[in-house]
Amino acid sequence: MKAEIIVVGSELLTPDSSDTNSLYLTHKLNEAGCEVHLKTIVGDVQKDIEEILQQALQRSELILFSGGLGPTMDDRTRAAAAGALKRPLVPDPEILEDLRRKFASRGFKMSPNNERQADVIREAEILENRLGTAPGMWIEEANRYIVLLPGPPRELQSVFEHHVLPRIRKLSGGTRLETRSFYITGMTESELDTQLAPIYTVYPRIKTTILAGTKHISVRLYRWLRPGDDIEDLDELASRIQEKIGPAIFSTQNESMEEVVGRMLRESRNTLAVAESCTAGMLGMHVTRVPGSSGYFQGGIQCYSDTAKTELCGVPADLIRTHGAVSAEVAEALAIGVRNKLHASIGLSITGIAGPGGGSPEKPVGLVYIGVSDGVDTLNRHRIMPGDRESIRERTTYLALSWLRRFLMKKTE
Ligand code: ATP
Ligand code: MG
Repeated sequence: MKAEIIVVGSELLTPDSSDTNSLYLTHKLNEAGCEVHLKTIVGDVQKDIEEILQQALQRSELILFSGGLGPTMDDRTRAAAAGALKRPLVPDPEILEDLRRKFASRGFKMSPNNERQADVIREAEILENRLGTAPGMWIEEANRYIVLLPGPPRELQSVFEHHVLPRIRKLSGGTRLETRSFYITGMTESELDTQLAPIYTVYPRIKTTILAGTKHISVRLYRWLRPGDDIEDLDELASRIQEKIGPAIFSTQNESMEEVVGRMLRESRNTLAVAESCTAGMLGMHVTRVPGSSGYFQGGIQCYSDTAKTELCGVPADLIRTHGAVSAEVAEALAIGVRNKLHASIGLSITGIAGPGGGSPEKPVGLVYIGVSDGVDTLNRHRIMPGDRESIRERTTYLALSWLRRFLMKKTE
Protein backbone atom coordinates (compact mmCIF):
# COMPACT_ATOMS: atom_id res chain seq x y z
CA MET A 1 0.00 0.00 0.00
CA LYS A 2 1.31 3.43 -0.97
CA ALA A 3 1.48 5.76 2.01
CA GLU A 4 2.09 9.48 2.32
CA ILE A 5 2.87 11.51 5.43
CA ILE A 6 1.84 15.11 5.96
CA VAL A 7 3.56 16.76 8.90
CA VAL A 8 1.86 19.93 10.14
CA GLY A 9 3.62 22.59 12.21
CA SER A 10 5.12 26.00 11.43
CA GLU A 11 7.81 25.37 14.06
CA LEU A 12 9.08 22.51 11.87
CA LEU A 13 9.84 25.00 9.11
CA THR A 14 12.25 26.96 11.32
CA PRO A 15 15.92 26.08 11.86
CA ASP A 16 15.19 25.25 15.51
CA SER A 17 13.18 22.07 15.41
CA SER A 18 13.06 19.02 13.23
CA ASP A 19 10.41 16.48 12.38
CA THR A 20 11.04 13.09 13.97
CA ASN A 21 7.46 11.82 13.87
CA SER A 22 7.71 10.91 10.20
CA LEU A 23 10.82 8.80 10.88
CA TYR A 24 8.94 6.83 13.50
CA LEU A 25 5.91 6.47 11.22
CA THR A 26 8.00 5.39 8.21
CA HIS A 27 9.74 2.72 10.25
CA LYS A 28 6.46 1.33 11.56
CA LEU A 29 4.68 1.58 8.21
CA ASN A 30 7.47 -0.31 6.47
CA GLU A 31 7.24 -3.08 9.00
CA ALA A 32 3.52 -3.25 8.41
CA GLY A 33 3.94 -3.50 4.65
CA CYS A 34 3.41 0.11 3.52
CA GLU A 35 5.90 2.02 1.45
CA VAL A 36 6.15 5.75 2.14
CA HIS A 37 6.55 7.46 -1.21
CA LEU A 38 6.12 11.08 -0.19
CA LYS A 39 6.46 13.34 2.85
CA THR A 40 5.46 16.96 3.19
CA ILE A 41 6.07 19.44 5.98
CA VAL A 42 3.53 22.24 5.97
CA GLY A 43 2.99 25.25 8.25
CA ASP A 44 -0.15 25.89 10.28
CA VAL A 45 -2.04 27.39 7.33
CA GLN A 46 -5.44 25.88 6.71
CA LYS A 47 -5.54 26.55 2.98
CA ASP A 48 -2.10 24.96 2.43
CA ILE A 49 -3.01 21.88 4.44
CA GLU A 50 -6.28 21.54 2.54
CA GLU A 51 -4.54 21.75 -0.82
CA ILE A 52 -1.97 19.13 0.12
CA LEU A 53 -4.66 16.73 1.26
CA GLN A 54 -6.57 17.24 -2.00
CA GLN A 55 -3.43 16.33 -3.95
CA ALA A 56 -2.63 13.43 -1.64
CA LEU A 57 -6.07 11.94 -2.25
CA GLN A 58 -5.19 11.71 -5.97
CA ARG A 59 -1.98 9.74 -5.44
CA SER A 60 -1.90 7.84 -2.13
CA GLU A 61 -4.03 5.14 -0.58
CA LEU A 62 -3.00 5.89 2.98
CA ILE A 63 -2.47 9.45 4.18
CA LEU A 64 -1.19 10.12 7.68
CA PHE A 65 -1.17 13.52 9.36
CA SER A 66 1.04 14.45 12.27
CA GLY A 67 0.18 17.43 14.47
CA GLY A 68 -2.17 20.38 14.52
CA LEU A 69 -4.95 18.71 16.52
CA GLY A 70 -4.52 20.80 19.66
CA PRO A 71 -6.78 23.47 21.09
CA THR A 72 -5.04 26.63 19.91
CA MET A 73 -5.81 28.80 16.90
CA ASP A 74 -2.72 27.54 15.08
CA ASP A 75 -3.95 23.96 15.19
CA ARG A 76 -5.61 23.73 11.79
CA THR A 77 -5.47 20.08 10.72
CA ARG A 78 -9.01 19.15 11.76
CA ALA A 79 -10.62 22.04 9.90
CA ALA A 80 -8.39 21.60 6.85
CA ALA A 81 -9.18 17.89 6.55
CA ALA A 82 -12.90 18.62 6.92
CA GLY A 83 -12.59 21.23 4.17
CA ALA A 84 -10.71 18.98 1.73
CA LEU A 85 -13.10 16.08 2.33
CA LYS A 86 -16.13 18.39 2.17
CA ARG A 87 -17.50 17.00 5.40
CA PRO A 88 -18.75 19.01 8.36
CA LEU A 89 -17.13 19.06 11.80
CA VAL A 90 -19.54 17.84 14.41
CA PRO A 91 -19.02 18.21 18.19
CA ASP A 92 -18.90 14.80 19.82
CA PRO A 93 -20.60 14.80 23.24
CA GLU A 94 -18.57 11.83 24.51
CA ILE A 95 -15.24 13.44 23.69
CA LEU A 96 -16.45 16.68 25.27
CA GLU A 97 -17.33 14.80 28.43
CA ASP A 98 -13.99 13.00 28.40
CA LEU A 99 -12.12 16.31 27.97
CA ARG A 100 -14.00 17.84 30.89
CA ARG A 101 -13.08 14.82 33.02
CA LYS A 102 -9.39 15.04 32.02
CA PHE A 103 -9.27 18.74 32.93
CA ALA A 104 -11.13 18.28 36.20
CA SER A 105 -8.85 15.45 37.27
CA ARG A 106 -5.86 17.77 36.92
CA GLY A 107 -7.68 20.55 38.77
CA PHE A 108 -8.04 22.82 35.70
CA LYS A 109 -11.14 24.46 34.33
CA MET A 110 -11.57 23.80 30.63
CA SER A 111 -11.38 26.88 28.42
CA PRO A 112 -13.75 27.23 25.44
CA ASN A 113 -10.82 26.68 22.98
CA ASN A 114 -10.48 23.17 24.24
CA GLU A 115 -13.98 22.37 23.11
CA ARG A 116 -12.67 22.45 19.54
CA GLN A 117 -10.81 19.26 20.32
CA ALA A 118 -14.19 17.52 20.56
CA ASP A 119 -15.02 18.41 16.95
CA VAL A 120 -15.06 15.33 14.80
CA ILE A 121 -15.15 15.01 11.04
CA ARG A 122 -18.46 13.38 10.13
CA GLU A 123 -18.19 9.59 9.95
CA ALA A 124 -14.62 9.55 11.24
CA GLU A 125 -13.69 6.90 13.78
CA ILE A 126 -12.22 8.34 16.97
CA LEU A 127 -8.81 7.06 18.02
CA GLU A 128 -8.46 7.40 21.76
CA ASN A 129 -5.42 9.36 23.01
CA ARG A 130 -4.55 8.01 26.45
CA LEU A 131 -1.63 10.37 26.95
CA GLY A 132 -3.16 13.69 25.88
CA THR A 133 -6.33 15.57 25.20
CA ALA A 134 -6.61 15.56 21.38
CA PRO A 135 -7.90 12.24 20.02
CA GLY A 136 -6.82 10.99 16.61
CA MET A 137 -9.17 10.14 13.72
CA TRP A 138 -9.46 7.40 11.12
CA ILE A 139 -11.40 8.38 8.01
CA GLU A 140 -12.31 6.34 4.95
CA GLU A 141 -13.08 8.11 1.71
CA ALA A 142 -13.45 6.35 -1.66
CA ASN A 143 -10.80 3.62 -1.09
CA ARG A 144 -8.52 6.08 0.65
CA TYR A 145 -7.61 6.05 4.34
CA ILE A 146 -6.85 9.30 6.12
CA VAL A 147 -5.42 9.26 9.62
CA LEU A 148 -5.07 12.30 11.89
CA LEU A 149 -2.55 11.92 14.70
CA PRO A 150 -1.57 14.31 17.51
CA GLY A 151 1.86 16.02 17.20
CA PRO A 152 3.57 15.34 20.55
CA PRO A 153 5.71 12.26 19.80
CA ARG A 154 4.61 10.19 22.81
CA GLU A 155 0.96 10.78 21.98
CA LEU A 156 1.43 10.10 18.27
CA GLN A 157 3.24 6.86 18.99
CA SER A 158 0.69 5.67 21.49
CA VAL A 159 -2.30 6.38 19.23
CA PHE A 160 -0.54 4.87 16.22
CA GLU A 161 0.55 1.72 18.02
CA HIS A 162 -2.82 1.01 19.64
CA HIS A 163 -5.30 2.06 17.02
CA VAL A 164 -3.67 2.55 13.61
CA LEU A 165 -1.13 -0.24 13.26
CA PRO A 166 -3.64 -3.09 13.72
CA ARG A 167 -5.90 -1.56 11.04
CA ILE A 168 -3.00 -1.13 8.60
CA ARG A 169 -1.72 -4.66 9.15
CA LYS A 170 -5.15 -5.95 8.21
CA LEU A 171 -5.31 -3.76 5.09
CA SER A 172 -1.88 -4.65 3.75
CA GLY A 173 -2.68 -8.37 3.86
CA GLY A 174 0.69 -9.70 5.03
CA THR A 175 2.97 -7.57 2.82
CA ARG A 176 6.18 -6.70 4.66
CA LEU A 177 9.59 -5.17 4.15
CA GLU A 178 12.65 -7.35 4.64
CA THR A 179 16.01 -5.61 5.15
CA ARG A 180 19.68 -6.52 5.45
CA SER A 181 22.36 -4.15 6.80
CA PHE A 182 26.13 -3.98 6.54
CA TYR A 183 28.34 -1.64 8.57
CA ILE A 184 31.64 -0.93 6.88
CA THR A 185 34.91 0.92 7.52
CA GLY A 186 38.22 1.32 5.77
CA MET A 187 36.76 2.27 2.37
CA THR A 188 35.44 5.48 0.91
CA GLU A 189 31.85 5.71 -0.24
CA SER A 190 32.86 5.82 -3.90
CA GLU A 191 35.29 2.88 -3.58
CA LEU A 192 32.48 0.95 -2.02
CA ASP A 193 29.96 1.85 -4.69
CA THR A 194 32.42 0.99 -7.46
CA GLN A 195 32.79 -2.48 -5.98
CA LEU A 196 29.13 -3.07 -5.17
CA ALA A 197 27.22 -1.42 -8.02
CA PRO A 198 27.94 -4.22 -10.55
CA ILE A 199 26.48 -6.66 -8.03
CA TYR A 200 23.42 -4.90 -6.69
CA THR A 201 22.20 -3.54 -10.03
CA VAL A 202 21.57 -7.16 -11.06
CA TYR A 203 18.73 -7.24 -8.48
CA PRO A 204 16.26 -4.57 -9.55
CA ARG A 205 13.64 -5.69 -7.02
CA ILE A 206 15.99 -4.93 -4.15
CA LYS A 207 16.56 -1.31 -3.21
CA THR A 208 20.15 -0.67 -2.14
CA THR A 209 21.22 2.45 -0.23
CA ILE A 210 24.72 3.55 0.76
CA LEU A 211 25.04 6.09 3.55
CA ALA A 212 28.36 7.54 4.78
CA GLY A 213 28.82 8.94 8.29
CA THR A 214 31.90 9.92 10.33
CA LYS A 215 31.97 6.56 12.11
CA HIS A 216 31.25 4.16 9.27
CA ILE A 217 29.39 3.59 6.02
CA SER A 218 26.19 1.62 6.04
CA VAL A 219 24.79 -0.36 3.16
CA ARG A 220 21.14 -1.39 3.36
CA LEU A 221 19.11 -3.72 1.21
CA TYR A 222 15.32 -3.46 1.13
CA ARG A 223 12.95 -5.96 -0.44
CA TRP A 224 9.15 -5.87 -0.34
CA LEU A 225 7.59 -9.27 0.15
CA ARG A 226 4.04 -10.35 -0.52
CA PRO A 227 2.65 -13.49 1.10
CA GLY A 228 4.20 -16.45 -0.73
CA ASP A 229 7.28 -14.51 -1.97
CA ASP A 230 10.61 -15.94 -0.92
CA ILE A 231 13.71 -14.04 0.12
CA GLU A 232 16.20 -16.07 -1.91
CA ASP A 233 17.35 -13.13 -4.02
CA LEU A 234 17.88 -10.99 -0.90
CA ASP A 235 20.00 -13.67 0.76
CA GLU A 236 21.88 -14.22 -2.50
CA LEU A 237 22.74 -10.51 -2.86
CA ALA A 238 23.71 -10.35 0.83
CA SER A 239 26.15 -13.23 0.45
CA ARG A 240 27.63 -11.79 -2.75
CA ILE A 241 28.31 -8.55 -0.85
CA GLN A 242 29.91 -10.56 1.94
CA GLU A 243 32.14 -12.34 -0.58
CA LYS A 244 33.18 -9.11 -2.26
CA ILE A 245 34.03 -6.89 0.72
CA GLY A 246 33.89 -9.31 3.68
CA PRO A 247 36.78 -8.01 5.81
CA ALA A 248 35.58 -4.41 5.55
CA ILE A 249 32.22 -5.35 7.10
CA PHE A 250 32.49 -5.09 10.86
CA SER A 251 28.86 -5.81 11.62
CA THR A 252 25.59 -6.89 10.07
CA GLN A 253 23.65 -6.16 13.25
CA ASN A 254 23.50 -2.66 14.64
CA GLU A 255 26.65 -3.30 16.66
CA SER A 256 29.08 -0.38 17.13
CA MET A 257 32.77 -0.60 16.25
CA GLU A 258 33.71 -0.28 19.93
CA GLU A 259 31.46 -3.24 20.76
CA VAL A 260 32.94 -5.35 17.97
CA VAL A 261 36.53 -4.52 18.97
CA GLY A 262 35.68 -5.12 22.63
CA ARG A 263 34.30 -8.55 21.82
CA MET A 264 37.42 -9.42 19.80
CA LEU A 265 39.74 -8.28 22.60
CA ARG A 266 37.82 -10.33 25.14
CA GLU A 267 37.69 -13.43 22.96
CA SER A 268 41.40 -13.27 22.13
CA ARG A 269 42.25 -12.57 25.80
CA ASN A 270 44.06 -9.36 24.97
CA THR A 271 44.17 -6.17 27.00
CA LEU A 272 44.39 -2.68 25.56
CA ALA A 273 46.08 0.58 26.51
CA VAL A 274 45.83 3.76 24.45
CA ALA A 275 48.08 6.80 24.01
CA GLU A 276 46.29 9.77 22.53
CA SER A 277 47.74 13.02 21.35
CA CYS A 278 45.32 14.86 19.06
CA THR A 279 42.21 13.02 20.27
CA ALA A 280 43.15 13.45 23.96
CA GLY A 281 40.79 10.93 25.51
CA MET A 282 38.20 10.37 22.79
CA LEU A 283 39.48 6.90 22.00
CA GLY A 284 39.41 5.84 25.64
CA MET A 285 35.99 7.39 25.99
CA HIS A 286 34.58 5.33 23.10
CA VAL A 287 36.25 2.09 24.20
CA THR A 288 34.73 2.48 27.66
CA ARG A 289 31.21 3.18 26.40
CA VAL A 290 30.84 -0.58 26.18
CA PRO A 291 29.65 -2.22 29.42
CA GLY A 292 32.25 -4.72 30.60
CA SER A 293 35.16 -2.87 28.96
CA SER A 294 37.03 -3.04 32.27
CA GLY A 295 37.62 -6.69 31.36
CA TYR A 296 40.10 -5.69 28.63
CA PHE A 297 40.81 -1.95 28.85
CA GLN A 298 43.81 -1.05 31.01
CA GLY A 299 43.63 2.72 30.55
CA GLY A 300 44.88 5.58 28.47
CA ILE A 301 47.38 8.41 28.52
CA GLN A 302 46.60 11.83 27.10
CA CYS A 303 50.05 12.82 25.91
CA TYR A 304 49.29 16.10 24.25
CA SER A 305 52.64 17.87 24.64
CA ASP A 306 56.04 16.57 23.59
CA THR A 307 57.04 16.46 27.26
CA ALA A 308 54.04 14.27 28.06
CA LYS A 309 54.96 11.93 25.21
CA THR A 310 58.47 11.61 26.57
CA GLU A 311 57.74 11.50 30.28
CA LEU A 312 54.52 9.48 30.32
CA CYS A 313 55.00 7.19 27.32
CA GLY A 314 58.76 6.97 27.16
CA VAL A 315 59.11 8.36 23.62
CA PRO A 316 62.75 9.44 23.23
CA ALA A 317 63.01 13.25 22.94
CA ASP A 318 65.44 12.76 20.05
CA LEU A 319 62.90 10.80 18.07
CA ILE A 320 60.39 13.65 18.37
CA ARG A 321 63.09 16.20 17.46
CA THR A 322 64.18 14.24 14.38
CA HIS A 323 60.81 13.15 12.97
CA GLY A 324 58.31 15.49 14.59
CA ALA A 325 55.50 14.58 17.02
CA VAL A 326 53.22 13.71 14.10
CA SER A 327 55.17 10.93 12.45
CA ALA A 328 55.19 7.19 11.90
CA GLU A 329 58.13 6.77 14.29
CA VAL A 330 56.45 8.59 17.15
CA ALA A 331 53.12 6.78 16.59
CA GLU A 332 54.92 3.45 16.95
CA ALA A 333 56.93 4.61 19.96
CA LEU A 334 53.73 5.77 21.65
CA ALA A 335 52.06 2.38 21.07
CA ILE A 336 55.07 0.54 22.48
CA GLY A 337 55.43 3.01 25.36
CA VAL A 338 51.83 2.93 26.54
CA ARG A 339 51.72 -0.85 26.24
CA ASN A 340 54.68 -1.13 28.60
CA LYS A 341 53.61 1.62 30.95
CA LEU A 342 50.10 0.25 31.51
CA HIS A 343 51.03 -3.45 31.26
CA ALA A 344 48.66 -4.19 28.39
CA SER A 345 49.09 -6.82 25.70
CA ILE A 346 48.29 -4.28 22.97
CA GLY A 347 49.13 -0.57 22.75
CA LEU A 348 47.21 1.68 20.37
CA SER A 349 48.21 5.28 19.66
CA ILE A 350 47.04 8.37 17.82
CA THR A 351 49.07 11.43 16.87
CA GLY A 352 47.96 13.99 14.32
CA ILE A 353 47.15 17.56 13.35
CA ALA A 354 43.50 18.37 14.05
CA GLY A 355 43.87 22.01 12.98
CA PRO A 356 42.78 24.54 12.06
CA GLY A 357 46.36 25.83 12.73
CA GLY A 358 49.62 23.88 12.84
CA GLY A 359 49.64 22.47 9.31
CA SER A 360 52.47 22.73 6.79
CA PRO A 361 52.93 21.65 3.16
CA GLU A 362 54.66 18.41 4.25
CA LYS A 363 52.31 17.83 7.17
CA PRO A 364 48.90 19.27 6.37
CA VAL A 365 45.94 19.66 8.75
CA GLY A 366 44.16 16.31 8.96
CA LEU A 367 47.35 14.22 8.79
CA VAL A 368 47.08 11.50 11.43
CA TYR A 369 49.24 8.52 12.35
CA ILE A 370 47.97 5.50 14.20
CA GLY A 371 50.35 3.03 15.84
CA VAL A 372 49.66 -0.41 17.20
CA SER A 373 51.96 -2.84 18.97
CA ASP A 374 51.57 -6.21 20.66
CA GLY A 375 55.24 -6.57 21.57
CA VAL A 376 55.88 -8.83 18.57
CA ASP A 377 54.65 -6.66 15.73
CA THR A 378 54.59 -2.89 15.71
CA LEU A 379 52.81 -1.19 12.83
CA ASN A 380 51.73 2.29 11.84
CA ARG A 381 49.45 3.73 9.23
CA HIS A 382 48.53 7.25 8.26
CA ARG A 383 45.74 9.12 6.55
CA ILE A 384 44.80 12.69 5.70
CA MET A 385 41.38 13.21 7.23
CA PRO A 386 38.87 15.63 5.75
CA GLY A 387 36.69 17.99 7.76
CA ASP A 388 37.00 20.40 10.66
CA ARG A 389 38.81 19.89 13.96
CA GLU A 390 35.98 17.98 15.61
CA SER A 391 35.29 15.67 12.73
CA ILE A 392 39.03 14.98 12.20
CA ARG A 393 39.24 13.93 15.86
CA GLU A 394 36.14 11.77 15.64
CA ARG A 395 37.06 10.11 12.33
CA THR A 396 40.56 9.40 13.64
CA THR A 397 39.18 7.76 16.78
CA TYR A 398 37.06 5.43 14.67
CA LEU A 399 39.89 4.78 12.24
CA ALA A 400 42.10 3.70 15.15
CA LEU A 401 39.40 1.29 16.32
CA SER A 402 38.96 0.03 12.78
CA TRP A 403 42.69 -0.62 12.37
CA LEU A 404 42.82 -2.32 15.74
CA ARG A 405 40.09 -4.61 14.45
CA ARG A 406 42.13 -5.45 11.35
CA PHE A 407 45.21 -6.05 13.53
CA LEU A 408 43.27 -8.45 15.75
CA MET A 409 41.82 -10.22 12.68
CA LYS A 410 45.32 -10.85 11.30
CA LYS A 411 46.51 -12.10 14.68
CA THR A 412 43.72 -14.63 15.01
CA GLU A 413 43.79 -15.85 11.40
P1 ATP B 1 -1.08 19.87 21.15
O1 ATP B 1 -2.37 19.54 21.80
O2 ATP B 1 0.10 19.56 22.03
O3 ATP B 1 -1.02 21.25 20.55
P2 ATP B 1 -1.00 19.00 18.40
O4 ATP B 1 -1.55 17.75 17.80
O5 ATP B 1 -1.62 20.27 18.00
O6 ATP B 1 -0.99 18.79 19.95
P3 ATP B 1 1.38 20.22 17.59
O7 ATP B 1 0.86 21.49 18.18
O8 ATP B 1 1.51 20.15 16.13
O9 ATP B 1 0.49 19.02 18.05
O10 ATP B 1 2.75 19.80 18.27
C1 ATP B 1 2.92 19.80 19.64
C2 ATP B 1 4.38 19.54 19.98
O11 ATP B 1 4.75 18.24 19.56
C3 ATP B 1 5.37 20.44 19.25
O12 ATP B 1 5.64 21.62 19.93
C4 ATP B 1 6.60 19.58 19.16
O13 ATP B 1 7.32 19.67 20.35
C5 ATP B 1 6.03 18.20 19.03
N1 ATP B 1 5.96 17.83 17.60
C6 ATP B 1 4.98 18.14 16.73
N2 ATP B 1 5.22 17.64 15.52
C7 ATP B 1 6.38 16.97 15.61
C8 ATP B 1 7.17 16.23 14.66
N3 ATP B 1 6.77 16.06 13.40
N4 ATP B 1 8.32 15.69 15.08
C9 ATP B 1 8.71 15.85 16.36
N5 ATP B 1 8.02 16.54 17.29
C10 ATP B 1 6.86 17.10 16.93
MG1 MG C 1 -0.67 22.29 18.87
